[in-house]
Amino acid sequence: MKNSVAKASPLPAISLKDVGGLGEEMKEEILQTLSTLKEPEQAMKLGIKPPKGILLYGPPGTGKTLLAQAIAHELNAAFFSASGSAFNELFVGVGASRVRSLFQAARKQTPAVIFIDEVDALAGKRKAHGGEEAEKTLTELLVQLDGGHSNDGILFIAATNRKDMLDEAFLRPGRIDFSFQVPLPDTKGRREIIEIHTKGKSLAPAVYASLNELAESTSGFSGAELHSLFETASRRALRNGHDTIEKEDLDYALDRTILGSASRTLQDY
Ligand code: ATP
Repeated sequence: MKNSVAKASPLPAISLKDVGGLGEEMKEEILQTLSTLKEPEQAMKLGIKPPKGILLYGPPGTGKTLLAQAIAHELNAAFFSASGSAFNELFVGVGASRVRSLFQAARKQTPAVIFIDEVDALAGKRKAHGGEEAEKTLTELLVQLDGGHSNDGILFIAATNRKDMLDEAFLRPGRIDFSFQVPLPDTKGRREIIEIHTKGKSLAPAVYASLNELAESTSGFSGAELHSLFETASRRALRNGHDTIEKEDLDYALDRTILGSASRTLQDY
């Protein structure tokens, strides 16, 4: 278990096309950032410093992990990923040593992306963070992020639902150079995400014809919820011996998804 966070997962076959609802402006910013990372020398000549660290923040299920995977894919980089909570240990020094091994492993396999989800569990504000052990782990993260040239070829990507909880020292340029907000998708974004998740699925003509309406009526749905909507609809179609996803399968899935979000919202309070 000790070094379980220090292994690259196979390069995710996710491209930016698989991430819907980013909006033109953000897509453009991401593409520009990627070009500085792909051609760092060219960028430096133009006075542009490629980023070392990027923060993705926004509500759960909006595609932050997906986007990090797509960025790694575009950079042809090894993908090291861990959840911030994997560094929380009661035993002295274990969290810090995990942070160190993660960076060491990535340095051996450049180009690499280190992705830390729920980074607030690792880089939360020191005052609120509590505990000497958590403080040591965060300090180690800052040390590793400040690695200078030893971090060449490494892009650090962190994701959180709680940007406000993050320690200011962590957010300093040189550690985190850009923050991208990944919000819940608007109607156009939902339409794009629906397109992505219905690709390769057989839809009954009535369902196909109702996709614009579906995008309009699913305000508040995240990408993850839209994904699960079509997964549920497909499974129901299969169970009922349908060759295509019928309107009744989709309606059933909509009810289930809405119920699921409602119970989660209730649990949150
Ligand atoms: P969390 O904050 O809960 O970790 P997240 O923002 O990292 O969530 P993902 O794990 O990337 O969200 O999303 C889960 C799944 O939902 C994805 O694998 C994908 O199938 C679908 N999904 C979420 N957002 C999008 C999106 N913008 N475009 C396409 N699919 C999406």
